[in-house]
Amino acid sequence: MTNRTALVTGASRGIGLACARALAAAGAKVVLAARDAVKLEQAAREIEGASFVELDLASPESIKVAFSKAGRVDILVNNAAITKDNLALRMKKDDWDAVIATNLTGAFLAIQQALHGMMKERWGRIINISSIVGETGNPGQSNYVASKAGLIGLTKSLAQEMASRNITVNAIAPGFIATDMTAVLSDELKSAMLARIPLKRLGSPEDVAAAVRFLASEEAGYITGHVLDVNGGMYM
Ligand code: NAP
Repeated sequence: MTNRTALVTGASRGIGLACARALAAAGAKVVLAARDAVKLEQAAREIEGASFVELDLASPESIKVAFSKAGRVDILVNNAAITKDNLALRMKKDDWDAVIATNLTGAFLAIQQALHGMMKERWGRIINISSIVGETGNPGQSNYVASKAGLIGLTKSLAQEMASRNITVNAIAPGFIATDMTAVLSDELKSAMLARIPLKRLGSPEDVAAAVRFLASEEAGYITGHVLDVNGGMYM
């Protein structure tokens, strides 16, 4: 991936940080993006050649500014996401809107920013981090699931629009991965999840990052519109 620049959203921790490390190890120049500049700076310091930009995906203006600072992006990893869980009947519209705005609209606007440069170069890799629940549904997460299923539809449409420009667009659907996002779940829920995973362990951020690195590589140039499950066999 020498001479390629990769921008990873939500790269200050968890899966995004693991993706940034893996892409840098594969030779890409990495730009880390998220809201918390202090954490980003710390993360960027330990990755060779990395830089960072502040980015709030809930703000279209912030997305524009961040991409103008980042410069040309060859590989875009749309990884950042939030949850605001509740049963549909009790869900506040604000919580619905916030999750869709960050996870789906934010990813779409980031793609629009990155596409100009990719089309000019006639080379690009867009990797959207969806979720197993975007394929299966999940009670109590209708906003999050809608955003993740939306990312899969976006991936497939865009893959067809961009194929003639040599830009591939794929999604990854992680299962249950050990990060801050899942650390908050109760022990009871965690053991119930574990019982449903044939490989009998939680995934690591590095498991997801390995799939991202592959889809971003030259070798993956004939794969587009695909949803790659990284879930220990939890959903087949
Ligand atoms: P995480 O530990 O909660 O990290 C989320 C990252 O997104 C952070 O870097 C956060 O940084 C950033 N972020 C949040 N809101 C943002 C915003 N408005 N603008 C820009 N950046 C924002 O999450 P994770 O577990 O690593 O998950 C990463 C991705 O994998 C997400 O798309 C998630 O849905 C997906 N996924 C995770 C699992 C799992 O089990 N963990 C399973 C399936 C799918 P700041 O707070 O500083 O902005």
